[in-house]
Amino acid sequence: MKMSIYKNAIDSIILGIEDFNAADPRRLISATRNLVAGVLLLIKYKLAVLSPPGTDEVLLKERVLPEADGMGGITWKGKGHKTVDVRNMEERCVALGVVVDWNLVRKIVAHRNDIEHYFPSLTQSALRTLVADSFIIIRDFLRTQLNLDPLTELGSATWTTLTSVAEVYDKEKKECLANIESIDWTFDPLQCALSEWQCPNCGSGLMDVKITGADKWDAQFKCRACAAEFGFEEAGEQAVVDFFASENHLAVKDGGEEATITCPNCSRDTYDLEEDVCLICEESVERECQRCNCPIPASELDGSGYCSWCSHMMSKDD
Ligand SMILES: [Zn+2]
Ligand SMILES: [Zn+2]
Ligand SMILES: [Zn+2]
Repeated sequence: MKMSIYKNAIDSIILGIEDFNAADPRRLISATRNLVAGVLLLIKYKLAVLSPPGTDEVLLKERVLPEADGMGGITWKGKGHKTVDVRNMEERCVALGVVVDWNLVRKIVAHRNDIEHYFPSLTQSALRTLVADSFIIIRDFLRTQLNLDPLTELGSATWTTLTSVAEVYDKEKKECLANIESIDWTFDPLQCALSEWQCPNCGSGLMDVKITGADKWDAQFKCRACAAEFGFEEAGEQAVVDFFASENHLAVKDGGEEATITCPNCSRDTYDLEEDVCLICEESVERECQRCNCPIPASELDGSGYCSWCSHMMSKDD
């Protein structure tokens, strides 16, 4: 069982790189599935290895049930065929001290989902981002968590493609970042968001600016993979929405305050509640109600300067 998981992991990665090199659009979809599956299987293999003997690979299974051992104790055993999902894998790995860059794992899983749903006309160039991200996880996991040599395990053809794609990507990404940093974006969160922004057209992480050192209002973004272009306001809004998406999603789920809301002034989804300013139009709105002096809840910020209760009361007074 354990060894077959490992063999499947390595086979998936090798197949994924063969698909990538074939450069046929249908094979590229298959490349994303194989590469991401290979990464997740490597981590599952480690969970299988760490499961105590006689527990039916308890750490790997989604369903876990206790079983009496007949001597007054219990053993937790894995049940069924379903293996853990990514969120549970992360929880178990963190608890066991298995080191994985989970931000990167979540990124490639989300990227694979995006590719399947939104980027049907995939190109080899666009896929370099996912290959480069996968490379880092695969290299580090094989070396540090499994004590294996990636070159020996994957073979030189696969390893050479992985390293060369990642090297070129890394060099280009650094150029893009330097170009983005040559422009004054006024706000740090906006610069961070633009630095991490991936092309909404093809998913590539290589978003560049056409003229370095330009005034931000004149900045033109251009994807190095698909040549799609975006002006400052469109790029800024999309980047900010993507950047704060998971934080805002959690806030809605757990009832906390969102990081960004729709700007009452320009109607873009770029009003940063912590900086208390719109990252695009630079307007700040009154956060304290001018009638009752209470902080205005984020959901009621409409630029009027009053909470919804006071607005309601004043409309009755008229
Ligand atoms: Zn693109
Ligand atoms: Zn605004
Ligand atoms: Zn009020």
